[in-house]
Amino acid sequence: MESQEFSELVASPKLLEAVQALGWTEPTPIQKKAIPAIREGRDLVGVAQTGTGKTGAFLLPILERQEGSEGLRLLVLCPTRELAQQVAADARELGTPTGAWVVEIVGGMPMGPQIRDLKAHPDVVVATPGRLIDHVGRGNVNLRTIETLVLDEADRMLDMGFRPQIEEILKTVPTKRQTLLFSATMPNGVHALALRILKDPLWVSASPEKMAAENVEQVVYPVRPEKKADLVIELLEREGMDQVLVFTRTKIGADTLGTRLERAGVSVGVMHGDRNMKQRMKALEAFDEGHIRVLVATDVAQRGLDIEGISHVINYDVPQDPEDYVHRIGRTGRAGAKGDAITLMTGMDLALVRSIEQTLGYVLPRVSLPEYDYPHGGGAATQERAPAVRTNRTGSRLGSRRAADLSPEELKALLGS
Ligand code: AMP
Repeated sequence: MESQEFSELVASPKLLEAVQALGWTEPTPIQKKAIPAIREGRDLVGVAQTGTGKTGAFLLPILERQEGSEGLRLLVLCPTRELAQQVAADARELGTPTGAWVVEIVGGMPMGPQIRDLKAHPDVVVATPGRLIDHVGRGNVNLRTIETLVLDEADRMLDMGFRPQIEEILKTVPTKRQTLLFSATMPNGVHALALRILKDPLWVSASPEKMAAENVEQVVYPVRPEKKADLVIELLEREGMDQVLVFTRTKIGADTLGTRLERAGVSVGVMHGDRNMKQRMKALEAFDEGHIRVLVATDVAQRGLDIEGISHVINYDVPQDPEDYVHRIGRTGRAGAKGDAITLMTGMDLALVRSIEQTLGYVLPRVSLPEYDYPHGGGAATQERAPAVRTNRTGSRLGSRRAADLSPEELKALLGS
């Protein structure tokens, strides 16, 4: 049976207060499913990505259990510094009122302060695997007291090659422990890892399709490749483009677009894997605090980021993988807010957009602006059979057409190839 209220999932008055202070009025679906099981001490696999409330789902029951006692009992492993910092920030918001001291141990930051933090007996460590192993090797931290191990974004950790470090860490934490594994996707490697290291886990999932559809208005602009940057500049001039996250496929693409926007007078920051830690943090902070209006990022750089108030996501390049599309547009329309996702599609991107539509189960509306659109009726463009919507230059708001709105013939023609 699913509980409906936080007060049915969390008993600690201090934690309930912290939840209220964060403005969380109702538990998210994954919180409703996961919290009772985690409270009982069960292992759990959560197929869920950032934006579903998964962090709260594991932090609340664990922090509640730790309340009033001291010692390092919770270890959260994350693939990236950004995600670790985000998880640590959430853990502090929730855990500080209960007396939990949270420390983050991430690569690319000086060792000294981390050593000091670790030696001062934290209650919770949130870490990236490589740096944590460094500290374990130097005897800076003892993981023998860990009671709960969380692997966050397990798919991404394996993608990034952290398997050896995870194996090392598994050797240093007690075998008798609670293990929670969260992953946006379940490729074989993650599945096998879950089967091996978790004991009789409960599997819960939070459906990304639902998230993508619910609060985010999605639209596709067909565009000639050489007009893409101009179209972005024009879109940015529209009303309501307050905090815009733009995705490019490559680091060079991000730099080039960043420079182009800067020249056009747009306040912009760029974030990708080649930028050093300081530059990434600076860009992120400036964006978060509203000093820059536009952040251009690659997929890797944005993973795990949690920036509130993003009004628009622009896919400057169509993502190669439909999962990445769902993940990208999940940056906006978070926790009930409304958001907009705009995808620029050249004649070369038709197949990619179609596979995204197949994943979503509905067709994305097209907005065709004659001065940017590619010529239809010849070449690759003849492949384009989705309903093109003509609009005035200010762009009317269009709901995504669901599969159910289309006739069976239309749907077959659009998705059937
Ligand atoms: P996560 O999926 O853990 O990264 O959470 C995504 C965002 O949702 C974060 O900004 C959380 O603060 C927020 N959040 C988590 N749980 C809730 C909730 N029950 N109600 C509203 N917002 C939430």
